[in-house]
Amino acid sequence: MKVMKFGGTSVGKPERMKHIASLLNKQSEPALVVLSALSGTTNALVTIGNNIAANDRHTALQNINALHEHYKTFIRELLTDEKAYEKAKNIVEEHFDFLHIILKISFSEALNKDILAQGELLSTKIFCCYLDEIGESYALLPALEFMTIDENEEPQLGSIRTRLSNLLEQHKDKRVLVTQGYICRNARGEVDNLKRGGSDYTASLVAAAINASVCEIWTDIDGMHNNDPRIVNKTFPIEQLSFDEAAELAYFGAKILHPASIWPAQQYKIPVKLLNTMQPDAKGTLITGEAASSGVKAVAAKDNIYAIKIRSGRMLLAYGFLRKVFEVFEKYKTPIDMITTSEVAVSLTIDNAEHLKHIVKELEALGTVEVDENQTIVCVVGHNINETEEIIKKLFGSIRNIPIRMVSYGGSPHNISLLVAAEYKNQLLQQLNRGMFGLS
Ligand code: ASP
Ligand code: MG
Repeated sequence: MKVMKFGGTSVGKPERMKHIASLLNKQSEPALVVLSALSGTTNALVTIGNNIAANDRHTALQNINALHEHYKTFIRELLTDEKAYEKAKNIVEEHFDFLHIILKISFSEALNKDILAQGELLSTKIFCCYLDEIGESYALLPALEFMTIDENEEPQLGSIRTRLSNLLEQHKDKRVLVTQGYICRNARGEVDNLKRGGSDYTASLVAAAINASVCEIWTDIDGMHNNDPRIVNKTFPIEQLSFDEAAELAYFGAKILHPASIWPAQQYKIPVKLLNTMQPDAKGTLITGEAASSGVKAVAAKDNIYAIKIRSGRMLLAYGFLRKVFEVFEKYKTPIDMITTSEVAVSLTIDNAEHLKHIVKELEALGTVEVDENQTIVCVVGHNINETEEIIKKLFGSIRNIPIRMVSYGGSPHNISLLVAAEYKNQLLQQLNRGMFGLS
């Protein structure tokens, strides 16, 4: 069995949804289909949740009504069969009744998670109505019955496997199984989610749980590209990447894949394919245990980075200084991305500034602290790039008139990271496209 995950834009228009059904028809093996919410829906639900949290029920109601209209139009365009349409209409009404009820009860974080779950519940149920209409035999496997996370919000792969196998056992005769991405139950049994973009994570967890032949991530771009197509003129899709390379790229800014979705596939050796619904025959990107070749494959950028420099006279020849620094970040559950040290100072970066004030306050006990906001990490990724001839010369030879704030090299053989002020990001990506790939 294979896993096929379709993102928001792949289900976001009635004709696209129909197109997915036609793709399923062409499969030679059974498929477990993971769907995101229709594009724009989760954002709208986040806004509605925020409106209710701020006790602005009037705006919440307006936003609920606008979303409701969107779904009414959607099913009218998707379905022609009277019975399928009636079924879809009832589903839409049921979910919007729920949102209206929510308006009347007091807000809580748990309730907010229920609001956010409506998108995937709606998209999968509506898709199933379309499968009814075209006479496809399928089963809908509710993610809330098998996808669970523990107290630390980590997925429980063991029990996911057991529950999912039981469900699949009940539907052995079906070639199409449909489930929701993103949503899950937490340790308290409440509805929860795998964070924004988490449908990719669902797909790879499910693929690992059922030992799928492949985990296909279908989007609206033909694979992972060597650079950001929004910023440079010419890019090309990368045919093959190792899990390590893909993890670096996903983490450092390639938006196409949720970074957490790499580990389940890597651990259970499930190949991942990034494919384009609009060009189903294009090769896309294959991610496996092997890197097809050495050398630089891609550059990616991650925005909204904070650089923190801690300078201390006492660091000179002292031991235990870094431990004290790291303990502060551990205390505030804030991951560090890049780090560089000199004899008297250490610079590091974080992307989560939620506890920045407290962190800085505690770091000030260790030395002088400087924070630079609005930085960007530009990361150069490839297999064993440390062994690539003259890589450093080529990399720095590509860069003109851009002040580099930090460089991190050697942490892994697959990555070199540069930190620059955000205003230099586009220029740096363009210069690297020219210098590293010979493209404009
Ligand atoms: N619908 C969720 C989101 O927009 C999950 C996903 O699409 O991956 O974040
Ligand atoms: Mg996504």
